[in-house]
Parts: sequence; C-alpha cells; structure tokens
Amino acid sequence: MKNFTRDLSFAMDADQADPLKNFRDKFFIPKDKNGKDVIYFAGNSLGLQPKTVRAYIEQELKDWATLGVEGHLHAKNPWLPYHEFLTQQTAELTGAKPEEVVNMNSLSVNLHLLFASFYKPKKYKNKIVIESNAFPSDHYAVQSQIKFHGYDIDSTLVEVKPRFGEDNLRTGDILDFIEIFGDSVSLLWFAGVNYYTGQSFEIEKIANACHKKNIIAGFDLAHSVGNTLLKLHDWNVDFAVWCNYKYMNGGPGSIGGAFIHEKHLKNYSLPKFLGWWGHDKTTRFLMGHDYVPIPTAESWQLSNPPILQLASLKASLDIFEEATMSALRMKSEMLTGYLEFLIKDSNNDNIEIITPSDITQRGCQLSLRIKKNGKEMYHRMISEGVICDWREPDVIRVAPVPLYNGFADVWNFSEKLRQ
Ligand SMILES: *Cc1c(COP(=O)(O)O)cnc(C)c1O
Repeated sequence: MKNFTRDLSFAMDADQADPLKNFRDKFFIPKDKNGKDVIYFAGNSLGLQPKTVRAYIEQELKDWATLGVEGHLHAKNPWLPYHEFLTQQTAELTGAKPEEVVNMNSLSVNLHLLFASFYKPKKYKNKIVIESNAFPSDHYAVQSQIKFHGYDIDSTLVEVKPRFGEDNLRTGDILDFIEIFGDSVSLLWFAGVNYYTGQSFEIEKIANACHKKNIIAGFDLAHSVGNTLLKLHDWNVDFAVWCNYKYMNGGPGSIGGAFIHEKHLKNYSLPKFLGWWGHDKTTRFLMGHDYVPIPTAESWQLSNPPILQLASLKASLDIFEEATMSALRMKSEMLTGYLEFLIKDSNNDNIEIITPSDITQRGCQLSLRIKKNGKEMYHRMISEGVICDWREPDVIRVAPVPLYNGFADVWNFSEKLRQ
C-alpha cells in the first residue's frame, strides 16, 4: 500500500512525519525490566492510562470531599448530568446521533438489557444468528437469553462458520446465510471486529440483509470503538454495545457504552427493564410511581452512574476528540500495514497472519498464527519487553494503536519476532 522499506530509517522518518506523534506523551507507557518503555501492543485488551486521568478523578474526589451530596448540583462538573458531558463525543466516535448513545454499566450487562428489548422470539421466528467464533461471553449471554425465553439452545442458536480451512467469514457467505435461513431468524448478533481474527465485518451490508428479512441487527463493538470508523446511524444498526477499556483507554473495568437507533427510541411498546435513571429528568425527583421515559437511549439507564468511572472515560474522550478518529484511522492503516509488510518480508514459515490483508476488513490488530512452539515464542516476547497476548490454541494477537504506538515500535517488534 505504501512504499514501506525494511530499514530502521524508514520507521524513524515515519515517526518524525507523524502528525499524531505527540499523543504518545499523553499516556503512561509501562516499563520493561531495564526501565525502558515496553512495546505495548495490547491496547486491544486494556488501553493505557492517559496522564490526565488523575486530575479528572481528583476533581470529583475534591468536590465529593468539600460538597458531599451537594455535588450532584454544585460540583464543578455536576454529577446529576455528568454522563451527558460524554454524549456528544461518544456519538461522534460511533457515528450516532447524541440521543442514540449512552455510557452505562458494562458490556455484558448492556447486552442483556438490550436483548430484553430487542430479542422478541416468536414461534416460527425465534432464532439468533451468531458468528461461530464470537467472544465466549457473547455465547454465554446469548445462550442464556434463549433459555430465558424457554427455547432450546441447540435448535435456536445458529452459527455462521468460516469455510473449511479458512479463518475469516466471507461477507457474501454471511449475506447468503441470512437470505437463505433468515425467515426463521429473530435477531443477528455479530461483532464489529472479531476479537480473535481481527476481521472487521461489513456492518452496513449485514444490517441491510437482516432488515430485508425482518431481523433485528445487533453488534458487539468491543473491538471497534476507538479502532475503526463507525456510522451506526447511517448503517441502520438496530442496537450495539461496547466496552471502554480496550481501544478507548477508559481504565480497567471501565463503564461501557450502548447505542439504540433513533427509529426505536419512541417505540414505547418495546419491553424494557426500568430504573429511575431512565425516567424523565424534569420530573424524576417528584418521586411519582408512574414511569415517564426519557425519549433517548438514556431511558435504558437504570441507576445513577459511577462518576469516577465517567471521569476517567471523559479524560480519554477528550484525547480522542483532539486527535480525531479520521486521523487515527489514517495512521492506523499505515501502522498495521507496516507491521504486515515487515512480517511478510521476513519470510518466516512459522508465522501466518490470519487477519484479512484487505485494510477495509481489519482494524489495528493482526493475529499471528504460530505453527510451532507458539506459546514459548509468546513467553520470549513478554520477557523481551513486548506486551501482546496469547489466545489458545495458537495465536498471538498484536495491536499497534495509533494513539500511543509508533513505527519504531513496529520495527522493534518485528526485529524481536525475527530473533
Ligand atoms: C472484551 C469483550 C467483552 C468483555 O465483556 P465485559 O462485559 O466488558 O467484561 C465482551 N465481548 C467481546 C466481543 C469483547 O471483546
């Protein structure tokens, strides 16, 4: 794609020319045993800590200390509407309208809350379509939803599998599958980017195919938000959930996010589990017993949210706003392309990249299948100051992220891989 070359000077020049090069300094980079920055390629698992997070959290600690309950209204950033301070930026990251998104709970919890609204199986239209290689939590959650509705898991959950001998799903095969089997399907549940292979799915085409068959299209964007460019509203996605501790750098166990398409927001017949934080804001504190929903995604909120978590995520969202997703994505394509180039150029038969080489079908991550002694190689890499991860049975996942990784990181990584 670009004129990559093998020599270190290419990486040095590319880092020099990188318009986002100063963003690395906004993060704490863990150190190796010699006190040098590690090569941190695990931002797909837990993003690094923005240096500004401490001040954001300390502001809330200070207001709590000095104001107590009065902080709900009188904190510098009042807690009552605090989650709203994140809405516009979240909408921008996901290609949503502000009323379509909310940060709340965590991913798997949000999955269940939204399935309560959107999985409405009928006798002859009750199936859920899922990718065979979906994240385990998604399999458990979906299985339990099927059981909760009184259906048999084996005959109700249908998996789309890659062709024999292939790792990734072909878009055409997914669309054919929906076309052929769709009449009995109630809901499709897919990742935006598959956690294992790094394949980025064609969300818009999949959602369209679903709608032709009257299927609700839901997406798990754990590996998409902060990684790929999203247009959830225009793509007509029905609903989506994500976590904010991977590419979003919101911190371990960070508060999650949810999207509900505008077209569903005023459908008051949707079943929904309720709590007071979903109730109309102007009358919430009148403490009546009749529920009046907020006409936005916020009506899926149950509880008043954890402010310290929101503060931490807000610090990260401010960095994303400054960097912009379009610039991040542009760098990301280069960075991952460079990593792919160096790995291929080293002609190592023991390593197979299973992530699609088509850049429109992947984000930052490359998944490397290590044919022999993969686990040993992984442990060697860790002891050499490379933070990546191992996924059974034979894959090392590496994710150079454009916010804090550079071309020299990629070059150093590939040198260690060669050794
Ligand atoms: C990381 C991840 C999760 C994690 O779920 P939590 O509820 O945040 O623990 C779920 N699904 C996918 C696809 C993931 O990548």
